[in-house]
Amino acid sequence: MNILVINCGSSSLKYQLINSDSEAVLAKGLCERIGIEGSQITYQPDGKEKEVTVSPMPTHTQAIKLVLDALTNEKSGVIKSLDQVGAVGHRVVHGGESFTSSTIITEEAIQAIEACNDLAPLHNPANLIGIRACQELMPGTPMVAVFDTAFHQTMPEKAYLYGLPYEYYETYKIRRYGFHGTSHSYVSKRAAQFLGKPYGQLKTIVCHLGNGSSISAVQNGKSVDTSMGLTPLEGLIMGTRSGDVDPGVMQFLMHKENMDIDQMLNVLNKKSGVFGVSGVSSDFRDLGDAAADGNKRAEIALESFAYRVAKYVGAYAAAMNGVDVIAFTAGVGENDKNARRMVCSYLAFLGITLDEEANSTRGKEIVISTPDSKVTVVVIPTNEELAIARETLALV
Ligand code: ADP
Repeated sequence: MNILVINCGSSSLKYQLINSDSEAVLAKGLCERIGIEGSQITYQPDGKEKEVTVSPMPTHTQAIKLVLDALTNEKSGVIKSLDQVGAVGHRVVHGGESFTSSTIITEEAIQAIEACNDLAPLHNPANLIGIRACQELMPGTPMVAVFDTAFHQTMPEKAYLYGLPYEYYETYKIRRYGFHGTSHSYVSKRAAQFLGKPYGQLKTIVCHLGNGSSISAVQNGKSVDTSMGLTPLEGLIMGTRSGDVDPGVMQFLMHKENMDIDQMLNVLNKKSGVFGVSGVSSDFRDLGDAAADGNKRAEIALESFAYRVAKYVGAYAAAMNGVDVIAFTAGVGENDKNARRMVCSYLAFLGITLDEEANSTRGKEIVISTPDSKVTVVVIPTNEELAIARETLALV
């Protein structure tokens, strides 16, 4: 069966058509600037050149129509008709406490997703628009919602509760949810398979380090803690997000800089992290280059990033009373050997030793610790689209 995977944002939409038998990506691409002047669609059939077409996309429905036209195009399409799309898998950011796993999309499910809009006002409404648009263009095709939060719903109360008045949890469901769940689930499972170890008996720490970054503690196949919270702002120092800060900082800065709460959150989400500390870039390649050229702020940004990651790894080793496997994934985790080395340099107390040569390899699943290391450290490239396609297949 061919499964169309859709990741719909407020003004962009990423897609992949995956054959669920071979798990091959038949075509992929993205629509950018939906609803804005100058929108364009990128379409890349497997093994062929990328095509970029500038085309008006006033709505998400129009964007998805262009995706479907590209997929079925006589010349460069990869399928003959939409009948060859067996199901659609939608990434949905927030499932609140309502969704502990993926779900078939029904009117009832849509209402439950809508009820989580307050928890992710930038993401969930956009995800829902993508769902509605697909329903309009492909009536009768089964659809599945795969949630970023679902995998972390196994966290115990002690891990997900904030130290706040309990009424806020009862009234508004203010608690830690965690994100990147599809990736944490996929990578922790894949690491166990790759190492030939039983997933149900392992203590794994997954370091998903990308532009957005989070860490999870996965014990016996279940997420028991993760670094993001009610929103993706908590936890690690990220590309442009601050991660953990004393809330008192906000009050201080809002007074001094005459900012309202939206402006303050904009600083914390978009102007902080390694970008804010370095003043150079949110991209770790730029930061590495700047640090090598002697830029001290770039250097301290990289150091702070790695230090925070190592602190969370230490915390999660304590949370699980041990750790068997540490898995690095996502843009930085998969590609940045210096970041991995810096993180692991703090972890000698866990008996970790890094194999420098293996750590210099890129783009594949590999063990980067030495054979005598007490904890096995691996790099596992994440594949959220494939994970969504698998979940979709399982449900339809
Ligand atoms: P997201 O999905 O959160 O947007 P990704 O997981 O794609 O992010 O990660 C993107 C980040 O990965 C880039 O911002 C960059 O910092 C980092 N990255 C990508 N390639 C490399 C590389 N070769 N070396 C170091 N960092 C890299």
